[in-house]
Amino acid sequence: MKCAIVTGAARGIGLATAKKMLADGWRVVLADWDADELTSVCAVLGDNALPLVTDVSNPEQVNAMIAGTLNWAGRLDAIVNNAGVADFGPIEDTDFARWRAVMDVNLDGVFLCSQAAIAALKAQGGAIVNIASISGLRASTLRVAYGTSKAAVIQLTKQQAAELGEYGIRANCVCPGPVRTKLAMAVHSQEIIDAYHDAIPLNRYGTEEELANVITFLCSDQASYVTGQVVAVDGGFESTGVGLP
Ligand code: NAD
Repeated sequence: MKCAIVTGAARGIGLATAKKMLADGWRVVLADWDADELTSVCAVLGDNALPLVTDVSNPEQVNAMIAGTLNWAGRLDAIVNNAGVADFGPIEDTDFARWRAVMDVNLDGVFLCSQAAIAALKAQGGAIVNIASISGLRASTLRVAYGTSKAAVIQLTKQQAAELGEYGIRANCVCPGPVRTKLAMAVHSQEIIDAYHDAIPLNRYGTEEELANVITFLCSDQASYVTGQVVAVDGGFESTGVGLP
Protein backbone atom coordinates (compact mmCIF):
# COMPACT_ATOMS: atom_id res chain seq x y z
CA MET A 1 0.00 0.00 0.00
CA LYS A 2 1.39 3.40 -0.97
CA CYS A 3 2.10 5.94 1.74
CA ALA A 4 1.85 9.75 1.67
CA ILE A 5 2.64 12.52 4.11
CA VAL A 6 0.31 15.53 4.10
CA THR A 7 1.55 18.49 6.14
CA GLY A 8 -0.87 20.99 7.65
CA ALA A 9 -3.42 18.17 7.65
CA ALA A 10 -5.35 18.99 10.84
CA ARG A 11 -7.88 21.07 8.91
CA GLY A 12 -8.68 22.83 5.64
CA ILE A 13 -7.17 21.76 2.32
CA GLY A 14 -4.69 19.41 4.01
CA LEU A 15 -7.38 17.48 5.88
CA ALA A 16 -9.52 17.19 2.75
CA THR A 17 -6.49 15.89 0.86
CA ALA A 18 -5.69 13.32 3.55
CA LYS A 19 -9.32 12.10 3.48
CA LYS A 20 -9.33 11.84 -0.33
CA MET A 21 -6.06 9.89 -0.34
CA LEU A 22 -7.34 7.53 2.37
CA ALA A 23 -10.49 6.95 0.30
CA ASP A 24 -8.28 6.19 -2.72
CA GLY A 25 -6.39 3.50 -0.78
CA TRP A 26 -3.29 5.32 0.45
CA ARG A 27 -1.84 5.14 3.91
CA VAL A 28 -1.53 8.74 5.08
CA VAL A 29 0.60 10.46 7.70
CA LEU A 30 -1.15 13.61 8.83
CA ALA A 31 1.46 16.08 10.09
CA ASP A 32 0.55 19.32 11.83
CA TRP A 33 1.83 21.45 14.68
CA ASP A 34 -1.66 21.75 16.21
CA ALA A 35 -1.63 18.64 18.41
CA ASP A 36 -5.19 19.02 19.73
CA GLU A 37 -6.87 19.48 16.36
CA LEU A 38 -4.73 16.72 14.81
CA THR A 39 -5.58 14.20 17.53
CA SER A 40 -9.29 14.90 17.33
CA VAL A 41 -9.56 14.63 13.51
CA CYS A 42 -7.42 11.47 13.34
CA ALA A 43 -9.56 9.71 15.96
CA VAL A 44 -12.15 8.94 13.26
CA LEU A 45 -9.90 8.31 10.25
CA GLY A 46 -9.03 4.65 10.87
CA ASP A 47 -5.87 2.54 10.93
CA ASN A 48 -4.47 3.82 7.62
CA ALA A 49 -4.05 7.31 9.11
CA LEU A 50 -1.19 8.25 11.42
CA PRO A 51 -1.04 11.62 13.19
CA LEU A 52 2.46 13.02 13.73
CA VAL A 53 2.74 16.34 15.55
CA THR A 54 5.33 18.27 13.54
CA ASP A 55 6.41 21.86 13.05
CA VAL A 56 7.51 21.87 9.41
CA SER A 57 9.94 24.72 10.07
CA ASN A 58 11.89 22.70 12.65
CA PRO A 59 14.55 20.45 11.02
CA GLU A 60 14.69 17.96 13.92
CA GLN A 61 10.92 17.56 13.95
CA VAL A 62 10.87 17.15 10.17
CA ASN A 63 13.49 14.38 10.36
CA ALA A 64 11.42 12.71 13.09
CA MET A 65 8.34 12.92 10.85
CA ILE A 66 10.13 11.06 8.05
CA ALA A 67 11.56 8.48 10.46
CA GLY A 68 8.13 7.97 12.05
CA THR A 69 6.57 7.50 8.62
CA LEU A 70 9.13 4.89 7.53
CA ASN A 71 8.83 3.10 10.86
CA TRP A 72 5.05 2.90 10.42
CA ALA A 73 4.64 2.25 6.69
CA GLY A 74 8.09 1.09 5.58
CA ARG A 75 7.98 3.38 2.54
CA LEU A 76 7.13 6.87 1.34
CA ASP A 77 5.59 7.50 -2.10
CA ALA A 78 4.39 11.10 -1.90
CA ILE A 79 4.66 14.23 0.20
CA VAL A 80 2.16 17.09 0.06
CA ASN A 81 3.75 20.26 1.43
CA ASN A 82 0.56 22.05 2.39
CA ALA A 83 1.24 23.60 5.83
CA GLY A 84 1.09 27.36 5.57
CA VAL A 85 0.33 30.59 7.36
CA ALA A 86 -1.35 33.71 5.97
CA ASP A 87 -0.20 37.27 6.40
CA PHE A 88 -1.78 40.45 5.04
CA GLY A 89 0.44 43.42 5.72
CA PRO A 90 1.92 46.47 3.99
CA ILE A 91 5.65 46.45 3.30
CA GLU A 92 6.36 49.20 5.83
CA ASP A 93 4.54 47.32 8.62
CA THR A 94 6.22 44.00 7.86
CA ASP A 95 9.14 43.96 10.25
CA PHE A 96 11.79 41.27 9.98
CA ALA A 97 10.21 39.02 12.63
CA ARG A 98 6.89 39.05 10.78
CA TRP A 99 8.62 38.39 7.43
CA ARG A 100 10.62 35.49 8.94
CA ALA A 101 7.53 33.93 10.57
CA VAL A 102 5.94 33.62 7.12
CA MET A 103 9.11 32.40 5.37
CA ASP A 104 9.85 29.90 8.14
CA VAL A 105 6.65 27.97 7.49
CA ASN A 106 5.68 28.70 3.88
CA LEU A 107 9.12 28.43 2.28
CA ASP A 108 11.60 26.84 4.70
CA GLY A 109 8.97 24.24 5.65
CA VAL A 110 8.58 23.14 2.03
CA PHE A 111 12.34 23.03 1.55
CA LEU A 112 12.99 21.04 4.73
CA CYS A 113 10.18 18.50 4.32
CA SER A 114 10.97 17.84 0.66
CA GLN A 115 14.69 17.51 1.30
CA ALA A 116 14.15 15.10 4.19
CA ALA A 117 11.80 12.98 2.03
CA ILE A 118 14.14 12.56 -0.96
CA ALA A 119 16.03 9.47 0.20
CA ALA A 120 12.78 7.57 0.89
CA LEU A 121 11.15 8.78 -2.35
CA LYS A 122 14.19 7.65 -4.35
CA ALA A 123 13.66 4.03 -3.23
CA GLN A 124 10.79 3.49 -5.69
CA GLY A 125 10.17 6.94 -7.21
CA GLY A 126 7.44 9.24 -5.99
CA ALA A 127 5.80 12.62 -5.97
CA ILE A 128 6.22 15.99 -4.29
CA VAL A 129 3.24 18.35 -4.41
CA ASN A 130 3.83 21.83 -3.05
CA ILE A 131 0.92 24.10 -2.23
CA ALA A 132 1.62 27.67 -3.28
CA SER A 133 -1.13 30.21 -4.10
CA ILE A 134 -2.42 32.51 -6.81
CA SER A 135 -0.72 35.12 -4.59
CA GLY A 136 2.58 33.63 -5.77
CA LEU A 137 1.63 34.18 -9.41
CA ARG A 138 0.43 37.77 -9.19
CA ALA A 139 1.80 40.74 -7.26
CA SER A 140 -0.70 42.64 -5.16
CA THR A 141 -0.98 44.97 -2.19
CA LEU A 142 -0.67 43.61 1.37
CA ARG A 143 0.92 40.30 0.41
CA VAL A 144 4.62 41.19 0.53
CA ALA A 145 5.63 38.27 2.73
CA TYR A 146 2.90 35.77 1.82
CA GLY A 147 3.07 36.40 -1.93
CA THR A 148 6.86 36.32 -1.98
CA SER A 149 6.94 33.07 -0.01
CA LYS A 150 4.51 31.45 -2.44
CA ALA A 151 6.38 32.70 -5.53
CA ALA A 152 9.50 31.10 -4.05
CA VAL A 153 7.64 27.82 -3.58
CA ILE A 154 6.74 27.86 -7.28
CA GLN A 155 10.41 28.24 -8.23
CA LEU A 156 11.49 25.66 -5.63
CA THR A 157 9.08 23.20 -7.26
CA LYS A 158 10.70 23.73 -10.66
CA GLN A 159 14.14 23.25 -9.12
CA GLN A 160 12.98 20.00 -7.53
CA ALA A 161 11.49 18.75 -10.80
CA ALA A 162 14.68 19.55 -12.72
CA GLU A 163 16.97 17.90 -10.20
CA LEU A 164 14.98 14.89 -9.02
CA GLY A 165 13.43 13.66 -12.27
CA GLU A 166 16.31 11.27 -12.88
CA TYR A 167 15.33 9.43 -9.68
CA GLY A 168 11.72 9.03 -10.78
CA ILE A 169 10.61 11.78 -8.43
CA ARG A 170 8.03 14.20 -9.85
CA ALA A 171 7.48 17.65 -8.33
CA ASN A 172 4.44 19.80 -9.04
CA CYS A 173 2.87 22.86 -7.52
CA VAL A 174 -0.79 23.66 -6.91
CA CYS A 175 -1.88 27.29 -6.63
CA PRO A 176 -5.26 27.48 -4.93
CA GLY A 177 -7.60 30.36 -5.48
CA PRO A 178 -9.66 31.44 -2.46
CA VAL A 179 -11.12 28.64 -0.30
CA ARG A 180 -13.19 29.32 2.85
CA THR A 181 -10.72 27.87 5.33
CA LYS A 182 -9.68 29.28 8.69
CA LEU A 183 -6.52 30.69 7.08
CA ALA A 184 -8.39 32.60 4.38
CA MET A 185 -11.35 33.76 6.42
CA ALA A 186 -9.02 35.31 9.00
CA VAL A 187 -7.84 37.82 6.37
CA HIS A 188 -10.68 38.06 3.81
CA SER A 189 -13.03 40.98 4.55
CA GLN A 190 -16.53 41.02 3.01
CA GLU A 191 -15.13 43.50 0.48
CA ILE A 192 -12.45 41.02 -0.59
CA ILE A 193 -14.97 38.17 -0.75
CA ASP A 194 -17.27 40.19 -3.02
CA ALA A 195 -14.35 41.27 -5.23
CA TYR A 196 -13.21 37.65 -5.62
CA HIS A 197 -16.72 36.56 -6.60
CA ASP A 198 -16.75 39.21 -9.31
CA ALA A 199 -13.23 38.50 -10.56
CA ILE A 200 -13.39 34.69 -10.70
CA PRO A 201 -14.96 33.35 -13.92
CA LEU A 202 -16.81 30.66 -11.92
CA ASN A 203 -18.02 33.45 -9.56
CA ARG A 204 -17.32 31.61 -6.31
CA TYR A 205 -14.71 30.38 -3.86
CA GLY A 206 -13.36 26.87 -4.32
CA THR A 207 -13.87 24.04 -1.84
CA GLU A 208 -11.28 22.04 0.05
CA GLU A 209 -12.43 18.95 -1.84
CA GLU A 210 -11.87 20.58 -5.24
CA LEU A 211 -8.27 21.25 -4.22
CA ALA A 212 -7.87 17.75 -2.77
CA ASN A 213 -8.94 16.14 -6.05
CA VAL A 214 -6.17 17.85 -8.03
CA ILE A 215 -3.51 17.34 -5.35
CA THR A 216 -4.34 13.64 -5.12
CA PHE A 217 -4.23 13.29 -8.90
CA LEU A 218 -0.75 14.83 -9.00
CA CYS A 219 0.42 12.37 -6.32
CA SER A 220 -0.98 9.39 -8.21
CA ASP A 221 0.34 7.31 -11.08
CA GLN A 222 -2.36 8.92 -13.23
CA ALA A 223 0.04 11.89 -13.37
CA SER A 224 3.12 9.76 -14.13
CA TYR A 225 4.36 12.07 -16.94
CA VAL A 226 3.50 15.35 -15.20
CA THR A 227 6.34 17.17 -13.45
CA GLY A 228 7.56 20.73 -12.98
CA GLN A 229 4.04 22.09 -13.46
CA VAL A 230 2.22 24.92 -11.75
CA VAL A 231 -1.49 24.19 -11.65
CA ALA A 232 -3.86 27.00 -10.67
CA VAL A 233 -7.03 25.59 -9.13
CA ASP A 234 -8.81 28.89 -8.94
CA GLY A 235 -12.07 28.93 -10.89
CA GLY A 236 -10.23 30.53 -13.81
CA PHE A 237 -8.98 33.60 -11.92
CA GLU A 238 -5.37 33.44 -13.11
CA SER A 239 -6.42 33.19 -16.75
CA THR A 240 -8.24 36.54 -16.63
CA GLY A 241 -5.30 38.81 -15.86
CA VAL A 242 -7.45 40.67 -13.31
CA GLY A 243 -5.59 41.90 -10.22
CA LEU A 244 -5.93 40.22 -6.84
CA PRO A 245 -8.50 41.93 -4.58
P1 NAD B 1 -5.75 26.20 7.28
O1 NAD B 1 -5.35 27.27 8.21
O2 NAD B 1 -7.15 25.69 7.31
O3 NAD B 1 -4.78 24.95 7.41
C1 NAD B 1 -3.38 25.12 7.52
C2 NAD B 1 -2.86 24.06 8.44
O4 NAD B 1 -1.43 24.19 8.50
C3 NAD B 1 -3.38 24.19 9.88
O5 NAD B 1 -3.87 22.95 10.34
C4 NAD B 1 -2.14 24.65 10.67
O6 NAD B 1 -2.14 24.20 12.01
C5 NAD B 1 -1.03 24.02 9.84
N1 NAD B 1 0.26 24.66 10.04
C6 NAD B 1 0.57 25.97 10.01
N2 NAD B 1 1.87 26.15 10.29
C7 NAD B 1 2.40 24.93 10.51
C8 NAD B 1 3.70 24.46 10.85
N3 NAD B 1 4.74 25.31 11.05
N4 NAD B 1 3.90 23.14 10.96
C9 NAD B 1 2.88 22.28 10.77
N5 NAD B 1 1.63 22.65 10.49
C10 NAD B 1 1.40 23.97 10.34
O7 NAD B 1 -5.40 26.76 5.82
P2 NAD B 1 -5.67 26.24 4.33
O8 NAD B 1 -6.41 27.33 3.65
O9 NAD B 1 -6.19 24.86 4.30
O10 NAD B 1 -4.18 26.31 3.76
C11 NAD B 1 -3.48 25.21 3.22
C12 NAD B 1 -2.48 25.74 2.22
O11 NAD B 1 -3.17 26.31 1.12
C13 NAD B 1 -1.55 26.81 2.76
O12 NAD B 1 -0.23 26.60 2.28
C14 NAD B 1 -2.13 28.08 2.18
O13 NAD B 1 -1.16 29.11 2.05
C15 NAD B 1 -2.64 27.58 0.84
N6 NAD B 1 -3.64 28.44 0.22
C16 NAD B 1 -4.86 28.60 0.79
C17 NAD B 1 -5.78 29.44 0.18
C18 NAD B 1 -7.14 29.68 0.76
O14 NAD B 1 -7.86 30.57 0.28
N7 NAD B 1 -7.58 28.94 1.76
C19 NAD B 1 -5.46 30.10 -1.00
C20 NAD B 1 -4.20 29.91 -1.55
C21 NAD B 1 -3.30 29.08 -0.93
